[in-house]
Amino acid sequence: MNVFETIGDRGHEQVVFFNHAATGLKAIVAIHNTVLGPALGGLRMWPYANEQEALTDVLRLSRGMTYKAAVSGLNLGGGKAVLIGDPKTDKSEALFRAFGRFIGSLGMRYITAEDVGTTVEDMEYIFQETDRVVGVHPVHGGSGDPSPFTAFGTVQGIKACLNKHYGSPNIGGISFAVQGTGSVGGNIVKMLAKEGAGKIFVCDINEDRVAKAVDEYGAEPVPLDEIYDVDAKVFVPCALGAVINNDTLPRLRCDIIAGSANNQLESEETGTLVEERGILYAPDYVINAGGLINVAIELQGYNRERAYQAVSMIYTNIENLFRIAERDSIPTWQAANRMGEERIRAIGNVRLPYSKRFKDRLSGRAPKQSHH
Ligand code: NAD
Repeated sequence: MNVFETIGDRGHEQVVFFNHAATGLKAIVAIHNTVLGPALGGLRMWPYANEQEALTDVLRLSRGMTYKAAVSGLNLGGGKAVLIGDPKTDKSEALFRAFGRFIGSLGMRYITAEDVGTTVEDMEYIFQETDRVVGVHPVHGGSGDPSPFTAFGTVQGIKACLNKHYGSPNIGGISFAVQGTGSVGGNIVKMLAKEGAGKIFVCDINEDRVAKAVDEYGAEPVPLDEIYDVDAKVFVPCALGAVINNDTLPRLRCDIIAGSANNQLESEETGTLVEERGILYAPDYVINAGGLINVAIELQGYNRERAYQAVSMIYTNIENLFRIAERDSIPTWQAANRMGEERIRAIGNVRLPYSKRFKDRLSGRAPKQSHH
């Protein structure tokens, strides 16, 4: 393997391998881009079959975080960490504390958080060694469960789509098909119902969750596979990835696809086909950034009201993205990437000229001001 070629291929700045024999820690941190700020991205723990698989995953995920932070207006870069191991059997206090010490050594370059296979408790162990972690317990200034914020942000994005397509952001009377009524989807159903939505079709493999949506919010249950066929204006995927594909696309009768699930499009080509069918697609990583925006507020001292305020900007972010799509005559999935790249380029150019004076101020050794 040619190391520089592998990490340079997608523009990564730094990839660090951490090994700690005593705890069995084998971790990779990938820092994709820090132009906008420290690279923030969760710690994934997974029993990867081999190192190559782990490396591929961390490189892909960290790049995604750069774009997600950039389009969300955050002053953060993109990074991610993977811990090779089985989250069911290989966790220990020492393991996460060793990881905390390691990432502490990266200074301001990387901030970690919860992800697949890790929990708030794991973040607490990391927090004992470094403050370069968000998503800690609320008693330590953490922001708690991100899913209500992700749901709130997704609903703001849905409103921006409604406004674009029908000329009004009102949810009243509009029909929806919500796939997956878990932490995020369940909250979305609640908000849609509260705002007077028309029919809300729901499906979930978990029958209790479906029952809750039906009993409490008057949703209409449909079998899992029929969610693609219902007569609803907006399809809201909140369960799995790759649900927009060659099989499902011809069946969709909606005008808008706007949901929280990650990686909704099976491929980029699918995104272009969605556009050609006249369906307005809200790119997943723009509309589902509420959780990230919420957790980022921890870095300024957490405040719930400010977090909601910041997450509500997703409405504007989606509007700006549609403007770029129109300006350049490109599908929305592509406009999302362009929006991220343009912000990184623009802000990257707003650098203060580097001077000795500026450097002194940073290090707290500013020369005495003279008062004339
Ligand atoms: P969750 O596990 O709480 O909910 C997912 C729901 O989907 C569950 O109720 C599950 O039973 C259901 N489900 C699984 N397979 C299904 C299928 N084939 N058909 C219908 N339902 C199915 O997860 P969540 O936190 O609500 O996240 C939902 C989606 O949003 C995921 O794709 C997640 O990656 C994404 N997301 C979540 C957050 C967040 O803050 N939680 C942030 C960004 C993105």
